[in-house]
Amino acid sequence: MPLRIIIIGGGIGGLCLAQGLKQAGVDDVHVYERDASPRGRMQGYRLRISPEGESALRDCLPRRAQDLLAATANLRHEQGLAAYDEQLNPQWAPEFGDARGDAPDKIDAVDRMTLRRVLLAGLDGVHFDRRFTHFEQVGDQVVAHFADGGSVTGDVLVAADGANSQVRRQLRPEFRHLDLGVRAILSRTPRAAAIKAGLPEVLRDRFVNVTGANGLRLALMPMVFRDTPREAAGRLWPGVEMDPAEDYYMSVFSVHRDVLGIPDTEFLSMTGEQLRELVLERTAEWHPDLRGVFAHAEAAETYPLTLKATVPVEPWGEGRVIPLGDAVHTMPPTGGVGANTALRDASALSRALAAVARGEASLEDAAAGYQAEMVRYATEAIEMSLKIAKWSMRKIDVETEA
Ligand SMILES: Cc1cc2nc3c(=O)[nH]c(=O)nc-3n(C[C@H](O)[C@H](O)[C@H](O)COP(=O)(O)OP(=O)(O)OC[C@H]3O[C@@H](n4cnc5c(N)ncnc54)[C@H](O)[C@@H]3O)c2cc1C
Repeated sequence: MPLRIIIIGGGIGGLCLAQGLKQAGVDDVHVYERDASPRGRMQGYRLRISPEGESALRDCLPRRAQDLLAATANLRHEQGLAAYDEQLNPQWAPEFGDARGDAPDKIDAVDRMTLRRVLLAGLDGVHFDRRFTHFEQVGDQVVAHFADGGSVTGDVLVAADGANSQVRRQLRPEFRHLDLGVRAILSRTPRAAAIKAGLPEVLRDRFVNVTGANGLRLALMPMVFRDTPREAAGRLWPGVEMDPAEDYYMSVFSVHRDVLGIPDTEFLSMTGEQLRELVLERTAEWHPDLRGVFAHAEAAETYPLTLKATVPVEPWGEGRVIPLGDAVHTMPPTGGVGANTALRDASALSRALAAVARGEASLEDAAAGYQAEMVRYATEAIEMSLKIAKWSMRKIDVETEA
């Protein structure tokens, strides 16, 4: 059965789904993204890729794109997590196994912007600057409407529009999102500057978690490109656009809002400079070797965040609107699995929809089967992320609706 698939959101999950469908021979696929270009806000960070996420990427991407991603992935393989207090005294930390070991082409972390460029490679039918507003079901079809006044009609609409999903707001406004009470400052520091400022050797090449007094928490993660994205594209897939990139540390400084003591309206409108100063002020008593990382953070790449979780994760039911990624299962970044879960969705959903296109399954059965499986593994991912959030931040809220 010929299927026209409309994907709302050209983020990690939506683009990976479009790639998976293309690999499976489903060609009438259109992605609508509100960002004006691939370089949207907050793309300049690294993402941990789990074994499940890597395997989903390999399922969906053509070989050349897999090679490009592996060539630009993080060079420093992580062996678990190193935990310290604010004076850099080692602390106990949970262990994470990784069946991939030290495989040389393992993709264990990637730069988010580079991942988006790779996910766009070779895809037609991605439309930027199209902000979805609402949909309507007309007979056996779904019509998506956009802020520019335009509309498109398809057989299936996939909601891949992230944590603040407009599609979910229309279809499932009753689904609960928890505000975990944690406020975070996400930032990026060039690696060379952090090392020059005294970042100790033991902290340089792994995921570091520092928990200070009052549950103040810093997570520090290196992104060391195996090959710069432009060089890798020139060698492996000339014509694929890449951005200039240098090695960096991504840092996430988190604190409970009671300890922060700043109203959300004020916190969420602070500039990058103000946020950087706030971190320096709140960590004035911390070990000086850690403070250099904040002092050299790029203000233009520093943002405020609130941590949320979807509890419980629920299927969206029958129909032609199918959810994927953060739109249906938002989770705090503490587990490093939100994007991996979205990638897993993309792989599972592309298989389900390809079976429908080949006439091997009905849309109802395929969508229900995908959603039942997704709810199971997404619930596990959220539970794990909440457990790590509790461990690292000492206090999170689990009753407050966002
Ligand atoms: C600081 C931080 C660190 C993280 N680290 C990790 C990590 O290491 N590993 C990991 O697995 N996960 C991580 N995550 C989580 C991860 O970023 C998300 O889970 C992932 O991006 C979800 O993918 P998605 O495709 O569902 O949504 P997104 O990637 O957010 O994509 C949604 C897209 O939809 C677009 N959109 C939204 N509304 C509309 C609209 N109305 N019309 C059209 N387009 C729209 C958006 O512009 C966006 O491009 C982290 C998150 C944060 C905040």
